[in-house]
Amino acid sequence: MRVRFLNLSIKDEKERKNLLEAIDKVFQHGQIVLGPEVEELEEKVAEYCGVKYAVGVNSGTDALYLALKSLDIGPGDEVITTCLSWIATANAITLTGARPVFADIKENFNINPEEIEKLINSKTKAIVPVHFTGKVCDMTSIKDIADKYNIAIVEDAAQAFGATYGGEKAGSFGKVSAFSLNPMKVFAACGEAGVIVTDQRDIYERLNALRYNGTPDKTEAHYISLNARIDTLQAAILLQRFKTLDEWIDYRREAAEYYTALLTDLVQTPREDKNCRDVFYTYNILCEKRDELREFLSENGIESKIHHPLLMPMHLAYKEESPGCWPTGIKFTTSSLCLPIHERITKEEQDYVIKAIRYFYKKEVRSDHNEE
Ligand SMILES: *Cc1c(COP(=O)(O)O)cnc(C)c1O
Repeated sequence: MRVRFLNLSIKDEKERKNLLEAIDKVFQHGQIVLGPEVEELEEKVAEYCGVKYAVGVNSGTDALYLALKSLDIGPGDEVITTCLSWIATANAITLTGARPVFADIKENFNINPEEIEKLINSKTKAIVPVHFTGKVCDMTSIKDIADKYNIAIVEDAAQAFGATYGGEKAGSFGKVSAFSLNPMKVFAACGEAGVIVTDQRDIYERLNALRYNGTPDKTEAHYISLNARIDTLQAAILLQRFKTLDEWIDYRREAAEYYTALLTDLVQTPREDKNCRDVFYTYNILCEKRDELREFLSENGIESKIHHPLLMPMHLAYKEESPGCWPTGIKFTTSSLCLPIHERITKEEQDYVIKAIRYFYKKEVRSDHNEE
């Protein structure tokens, strides 16, 4: 058997038909740029996240960059973020001219609020919590810190569309929040896409201008910016997928529960806090002999991934300027492994993965696990 980490091909007939129809509708009306689907998607996303406004953009990276720009963050400012994220988080901050300052994580892979507070100084303008693996950060503590020092929160919710904390959706905690909707993400387009959400009218208007070369009326630039508009075609695809989003999240959650039940005696499996609903963008285990396990899985046709082998401050582009120490982050980069999880994974595939991992650690599958 071969188990892909992710398979983006669409084989289901009904799903294909619906997507092709949605695309054809765009071909028919011809509003390829900022067509009606974009506006509809923005309305749906805002409502779903429990915020007033959403602005569709062309990637998660640009969503975060523009979110920071909308708060006037730039040269001379510092922005505190986690050490553990896809490098896009650091790049978006740095490209505004601000300096990213990296905090260590907690055992649950998310930024440690205690570490945030140690890094705050008079230059600190924002905190960018990343809801890593689709688990919302400890927003109560982070909000307390942000309020205490009068600093803005800008959520990097790229991995956490649909995740909740205390019943509130990811994206609703920041002054402005950024999502990626790229093909790998939980809510995924068939190409690059992103969305920014906010409750503030003035920020919303600014974002609308920032998304198109800083022009509120498409004529005169009020700000210096770039072209970051979302394609109508991607919006049409996303609208179609929005219909099944919650179903797919439930499916991921069930798949995660299944892995956890059958692996938790051998490796450290993810834990969900009582007040949270994680969406499992990735399913990360912490394990011994990680690289050997990964090799063994690969030999048996199972794809796994290391998200991410390098902490952001350890990338070549950041090494010089980012002194610091992140012991929990380091532990993560050496022992974490992402197992295949997505809305098309089958029980058979999961069983195969579980069996391989159990075999690797030389333990027998308990014979009583097969309830079905
Ligand atoms: C995917 C991702 C991004 C970047 O999104 P793109 O759409 O790929 O530009 C930013 N931050 C995090 C945490 C991500 O996982």
